[in-house]
Amino acid sequence: MAGGKKRVVIVGGGIAGVGVARNLLARARDLVDVTVIAKDPFYMSGPSRPLLLTGEQSYDRIVRGYEQVAAEGVSFVFGTVTRVVPEERRVEVVENPTRAPLERSIEYDYLVLAPGVVFDGSSIEGYRENWWRNTNVYEPGRVDVLKRRVWSLEKGSVVVYAPKAPYRCAPAPAETAMAIHTVLAYRGVRKNFRIVHVDANEKPQPPVIADVIKARYEEAGVELITSREIVEIGPDYVVLSDGEKIPYTILAALEPNRAPRFIAEAGLGERWFEVRSPQDLRSVKYDDVLAAGDVAKLPFPKNQEIAYESALHAVNNILDDLGVPEKIPVQYTFLGWAYLGNLEGKLETESVLFGLNFTTKPPKPTKDPTPKKEYTKAKDEWEQSYLRRLFGH
Ligand SMILES: Cc1cc2nc3c(=O)[nH]c(=O)nc-3n(C[C@H](O)[C@H](O)[C@H](O)COP(=O)(O)OP(=O)(O)OC[C@H]3O[C@@H](n4cnc5c(N)ncnc54)[C@H](O)[C@@H]3O)c2cc1C
Repeated sequence: MAGGKKRVVIVGGGIAGVGVARNLLARARDLVDVTVIAKDPFYMSGPSRPLLLTGEQSYDRIVRGYEQVAAEGVSFVFGTVTRVVPEERRVEVVENPTRAPLERSIEYDYLVLAPGVVFDGSSIEGYRENWWRNTNVYEPGRVDVLKRRVWSLEKGSVVVYAPKAPYRCAPAPAETAMAIHTVLAYRGVRKNFRIVHVDANEKPQPPVIADVIKARYEEAGVELITSREIVEIGPDYVVLSDGEKIPYTILAALEPNRAPRFIAEAGLGERWFEVRSPQDLRSVKYDDVLAAGDVAKLPFPKNQEIAYESALHAVNNILDDLGVPEKIPVQYTFLGWAYLGNLEGKLETESVLFGLNFTTKPPKPTKDPTPKKEYTKAKDEWEQSYLRRLFGH
């Protein structure tokens, strides 16, 4: 233990990981040494990635480095965590192509796992051969491929897919379908394309705005198929769980989501990290291993507000253990905006506002069902303020 301080190791340098690091250090600087292990030496924000398709967002506005966080006293190790050994209180890190971690094995007194999600297409037949025909808005690089296809093809069929919930960012598939509609309409080729949204869930997600999404789809001529999964991806078609075959020229399928494999391998949960409760983010097995963010099994959607709130709960759990009386006031609730494109094909996305307050039972929904340009601006301000709060600019 360095200088009597507890070593807090955080896996993941995203919303939850940096959220835990900064909030913990702010309240217990004399008691903890905080180290973040992150795969990349930068972070790229998620929420506005669908707007990269319409050209309303650019990478330079959503990428942040960790320099400011490091200047405030958080240590960083850049590498990929491959193994957690809770019995020995250590994690193993391997180097990335451009980054050698300073240590291969890092010991902790408290471990917070905040690595987000893995997109896993292995349950879909033909995925191994045809993954490269698929693109979506979720990952840098791949979103650019989708953009090129949407901006260059003249005719065809677009298939957008949402896997069974929970998956990261409930409205993103609908946002993708409407962004594609917008670009095709802008280019004057919308009439040459069929757009189909296949959803493994009973309703497009999140359910609170399913009616708004359906109404928008009717106006935009986007077809919706619910309660069916994509079970096979062929070279130019997908097969659904009821056997229906749908041709595609552009495929924007989100793969089923799960926690990184090292979570299950360490016995911390199967599909997701098993926490004691939404307020007690400790592992059901180990007092000193906690989860934060999308990786945690919570009865809520996987989004940024919930990820950050879970991070604050995890900080409170550690403060409790350290005997620090101060706690961060936090409750599960969120307000979000879903981009629902532009029906006329102007590159000016309109959004709807929605929210859920989980402190009431049943959770209290909020929404303004009318898509507005102002809400797209409000979402941008919200995303930028998160980045400022976490990354210092
Ligand atoms: C396209 C898209 C749209 C979205 N839209 C919205 C929205 O409108 N509203 C909203 O609230 N949320 C939205 N989200 C979701 C939001 O971005 C996530 O819920 C949030 O980022 C979760 O935080 P996290 O810390 O759990 O994961 P992340 O922020 O993804 O951070 C995970 C971190 O862990 C690192 N990491 C992963 N594995 C390892 C490893 N093995 N070793 C070391 N480091 C590792 C990653 O590099 C990253 O730094 C969207 C996300 C995407 C991708």
